[in-house]
Amino acid sequence: MKHEEVKTNSTFPVGEPNEAFAKFFVGQSYLASLAADPALDVMIGNVTFEPGCRNNWHIHRGGYQVLLVTGGEGWYQEEGEDARFLTAGDVVITHDGVKHWHGASADSWFQHIAITAGTPEWLEAVSEHQYQQVHA
Ligand code: MN
Repeated sequence: MKHEEVKTNSTFPVGEPNEAFAKFFVGQSYLASLAADPALDVMIGNVTFEPGCRNNWHIHRGGYQVLLVTGGEGWYQEEGEDARFLTAGDVVITHDGVKHWHGASADSWFQHIAITAGTPEWLEAVSEHQYQQVHA
């Protein structure tokens, strides 16, 4: 598997196995909170995905999300759009109400910082068929 260094040699903390959100993910992810200041209206966390791990389709209601890719290889897809291949240095902006998912490639670790405002609405899992399609 490619890019294991994102877990073993991460600039930002990798954190603990992401148990709190595990039911909204396929595969194992890790989450470290980087900033959770109650005076701010955003949460900033570092999310590390094992190969094949991705989150369910979801919507950031009443807010937005900015992803800053820090390592590995992964994917971002909005409903009805082609998936976008992501590597370190990529920036993704998700607007309020847009259904999407993000996660690792099948053969690579992946890591992004997520800056998130609003409330997530978690939807169905990305099916194996949908996930295979983005790699085609
Ligand atoms: Mn998201």
